[in-house]
Amino acid sequence: MTKKTDNKHAVKHHLHPFSDNAQLKKHGVRMMVKAKGIYVYDSEGNEIIDGMAGLWCVNIGYGQKKLAKIAEKQMEVLPFYNTFFKTTHPAVIRLSEKLVEITPRNFNHVFYTNSGSESVDTMIRMVRHYWSSVGHPNKKIIIGRWNGYHGSTLGGASLGGMKSMHEQGDLPIANIVHIDQPWYYGLADDNESEEEFGIRAANWLEEKILALGADKIAAFVGEPIQGAGGVIIPPTTYWPRIEEICKKYNILLVADEVICGYGRTGNWFGFETLGFTPDIFTTAKGLSSGYLPIGAVLVNDKVTEGLLAGGEFNHGFTYSGHPVAAAVAYENLNILDKKNIIEKVRTKTGPYLRKRWQETFSKFKYVADIRSEGLMCGFTLVKNRETRELFDDFGSTGLICRDIFFKNNLIFRACGDHMVAAPPLIISKKEIDNMLAIASACMREFEEMMDKKLKTDTDKAA
Ligand SMILES: *Cc1c(COP(=O)(O)O)cnc(C)c1O
Repeated sequence: MTKKTDNKHAVKHHLHPFSDNAQLKKHGVRMMVKAKGIYVYDSEGNEIIDGMAGLWCVNIGYGQKKLAKIAEKQMEVLPFYNTFFKTTHPAVIRLSEKLVEITPRNFNHVFYTNSGSESVDTMIRMVRHYWSSVGHPNKKIIIGRWNGYHGSTLGGASLGGMKSMHEQGDLPIANIVHIDQPWYYGLADDNESEEEFGIRAANWLEEKILALGADKIAAFVGEPIQGAGGVIIPPTTYWPRIEEICKKYNILLVADEVICGYGRTGNWFGFETLGFTPDIFTTAKGLSSGYLPIGAVLVNDKVTEGLLAGGEFNHGFTYSGHPVAAAVAYENLNILDKKNIIEKVRTKTGPYLRKRWQETFSKFKYVADIRSEGLMCGFTLVKNRETRELFDDFGSTGLICRDIFFKNNLIFRACGDHMVAAPPLIISKKEIDNMLAIASACMREFEEMMDKKLKTDTDKAA
């Protein structure tokens, strides 16, 4: 299928992110050359369904000509100017107004970055600067969650709860701690209801606060639904209880909306779906549907007021509010808005995918915890559904499954042994059916393979 010789040449000079580059040099990579709608096409001419919207970001789908035109025009008129030294430009003003229009009423300010990681690092500095500006310089500790993902910069990787990332580069940085994730299937006690577990998981935050001292804690940060951790959807009781705890102990509540933001869960933002209101939230990915790199940190009035009292915020990026990225992001939001794309996710394609996702995967015996919210869905590969026993070496089975999908021209992702999908928001019901028909065939192949593998393992052990 893939011509390995060409594709080895492709990695000759490129160190790929999140990759074993020695393996890539041996086996080559798959080269994507164009895309349209929910499809990407590789250099061999295969049409591939992109069940992951790139990296959870191409919300609006591929091939939106309007965005290309806007970028071209903006490049001709004003390709770059900065927003550091008492200057601005029309594109960033327009985008800021649009963002304020689509966010809740008490969000009236935006800080621009170029990525999710930069948004998270900006938020970390902002939160700590806020507390010192309002007379609480000792409130520095930020609480994240195990298995959370907040990017790859020093701050983002520290706040994230990926142990494999902490192991490289001396992380976490100081004053970052973690609590456990609200994963009902994996962490609930026998006979505990989802609602009860949600409260108990939220109370882990209170326990951590009491252990460390509320006067030292600046913020709690979480993804409304954990994305790269495997689409972990918390019980409905979780976030309201978290919000209550943050208020009680005077701790800022931060949502990392880099995946959930801009329509993924059927509302503009994940916190609307999950039922809470943060003080700050970080975004990127869907802001421009990935057409250009741009991120934004949205700040509520209370935090803004504190920051304004604190004098100069010594922080920013050359490309903060880049005119071309800002113009494209504005048009992306405009299209999401005018074409009611998010409403369709909430009322039509989201519920349809949930039903079909359940039907499709409940047929397979190594599958458990089938879940979805909006166009973000997952299930977990398990050795035994009855006893909830996971496969050994968490993550290795996911990769086997992922590779079967990939070989069959369907992109899903393995996050450990959680299989996840997050297609472009413009996917139709018919395209959902096609996607799941392929997925079903892949799962049959996977099941046969695992049957054989487990049998060989038992034979060996006997
Ligand atoms: C992807 C992601 C990030 C990091 O974004 P980059 O643009 O890759 O730096 C941060 N937080 C969450 C929740 C993400 O999914």
